[in-house]
Amino acid sequence: MACEAKPRSRGLVLGRPFAKAQGMPMKSEEESAAHTEHLDDQPPPGAVLVVGGGIAGIQASLDLAEMGVRVHLVEKSPTIGGRMAQLDKTFPTNDCATCILSPKMVQCDRHPLIAIHTLSEVQAVTGEAGDFTVRVLKRARYVDESACTSCGDCARVCPIVKRDEFQMGLSTRRAIYIPFPQAVPQAYVRDPDDCLGDEPMACGRCIEACSKGCIDFDERDEVIDLSVDAIVVAVGMETFDPDPLTEYGYTRFQNVITGLEFERLICASGPSGGRLLRLTDRREPRVIGFIQCVGSRNLKYQRFCSSVCCMHATKEAVLAREHIPDVQSHIFYTDLRASGRGFREYIERAQQEYGVEYIRSRVAKIEEDQDGRLVFHYEDAATSRPREMRVDLAVLATSVVPGPGVAPLAEMLRLELDEYGFLKTDPFSPTDTTREGVYACGCCRAPVDIPQAVAQASGTAARAAQHATELDPMPAQPASRLVDQPLVIDGEGDLLGPSPRDC
Ligand SMILES: Cc1cc2nc3c(=O)[nH]c(=O)nc-3n(C[C@H](O)[C@H](O)[C@H](O)COP(=O)(O)OP(=O)(O)OC[C@H]3O[C@@H](n4cnc5c(N)ncnc54)[C@H](O)[C@@H]3O)c2cc1C
Ligand code: SF4
Ligand code: SF4
Repeated sequence: MACEAKPRSRGLVLGRPFAKAQGMPMKSEEESAAHTEHLDDQPPPGAVLVVGGGIAGIQASLDLAEMGVRVHLVEKSPTIGGRMAQLDKTFPTNDCATCILSPKMVQCDRHPLIAIHTLSEVQAVTGEAGDFTVRVLKRARYVDESACTSCGDCARVCPIVKRDEFQMGLSTRRAIYIPFPQAVPQAYVRDPDDCLGDEPMACGRCIEACSKGCIDFDERDEVIDLSVDAIVVAVGMETFDPDPLTEYGYTRFQNVITGLEFERLICASGPSGGRLLRLTDRREPRVIGFIQCVGSRNLKYQRFCSSVCCMHATKEAVLAREHIPDVQSHIFYTDLRASGRGFREYIERAQQEYGVEYIRSRVAKIEEDQDGRLVFHYEDAATSRPREMRVDLAVLATSVVPGPGVAPLAEMLRLELDEYGFLKTDPFSPTDTTREGVYACGCCRAPVDIPQAVAQASGTAARAAQHATELDPMPAQPASRLVDQPLVIDGEGDLLGPSPRDC
């Protein structure tokens, strides 16, 4: 169903005025002028809500803003960036993930048409395509975003030590912290659940340590209402918790880790400064076993293929060899799913240049021997005989699953889910959800890699912009319509195309 273009009644609020109206940190005069100049003679743009600030939400926001559409980017955590911020390098090019992501995060932050709402979640949505009202709960940061210089003086005096979620629990953070050095916004955040409080007998040391005076324990959560024309959902994914698969001993054996833990361990900004070490003895592993499809393609857990794991395990095995030249990596796989451009060649290079061995088998059980090495029990697919392999480190490629926020958000937005709990989208218009004016991209609609998430994000931006500008949203065109259109033929008998009135 098409949505009629309607006159905008919300006034021209661009650049600094937009930021000010939303109580957001303001961009510089020059930044605003550069972006507003070319919009002066155009009708007031509409606005789009983007939910989720991973790579998909960031790309959708940037594309929309570059089309002159105002964007509210709502992210539940203290920073944008999503999972990509936790990755070391990215397949198939082995580019540094942060080097690609960080400039986009900064661009988002600086764009005068993008208002980033971190620590925020959608609470209610009313209205329809072209005229949604969205209620957002913004949790208090307790640190003034625009004044904080990220000096870290507050964290240095904080006595509370907590598991660092960004480092997958492999290191610790304080009760006042910044999730990672390139976080956007560049500001510390206080976790009220961990903090001792500011009563003189309790603590309040961070307040004393902050010379900028930007910590305020009296800050309260806020509820804000946003008027938007369309909604882009980009709430991403979670990874499967391998605990129920007791045969792999994920919590029993410290040297059994997940793919995301491996990404943090091998990353220069990770807990070991980029040295790939076993968690038990802090020694470099000599043999690594990668186990694929942990939770995926499994009738008891996820029946679907997580699509990115064959490639990320290959990347991790290659990176391991780059860090430890004599390491041997063995990848135990179900099928090798390498369907993207250059993916097959990537796997061949891993085999030929990095000595990665691919073994078609499901590991049945992991045990630990007396020397602390891990023993893989598996079946040799060629001979159907049971075999054993001793490794120093096991890496589980845990499946990509819908995040816990997908189902409640779908209910709030009246969207259907597919049989696996991802957002249902139209097979022939793959970013359209089951509700007009609401679009989805990235891993919340199915597991995808970064290039696919980015392409989908640009698709959602184009679809959402149709509601937010004076253009009519493009209705689905019945194929017959093109055939039925009267054709225009010029005096010479040349075909000029369909008649302008039908075009
Ligand atoms: C171990 C591992 C290695 C990988 N390596 C690669 C690689 O090398 N190359 C590659 O191309 N791909 C790789 N991937 C896949 C890549 O991580 C994903 O393609 C990418 O992260 C998808 O981005 P996204 O924006 O859809 O989701 P996410 O990165 O999950 O971002 C979603 C964002 O939404 C936020 N959010 C969630 N719920 C809500 C809510 N209710 N309200 C507001 N915000 C919310 C989250 O906090 C998060 O910031 C890897 C994946 C894994 C698990
Ligand atoms: S001491 Fe103040 S300015 Fe420095 S990081 Fe902490 S809150 Fe920010
Ligand atoms: S008041 Fe809270 S955040 Fe501040 S130093 Fe004490 S425990 Fe840490």
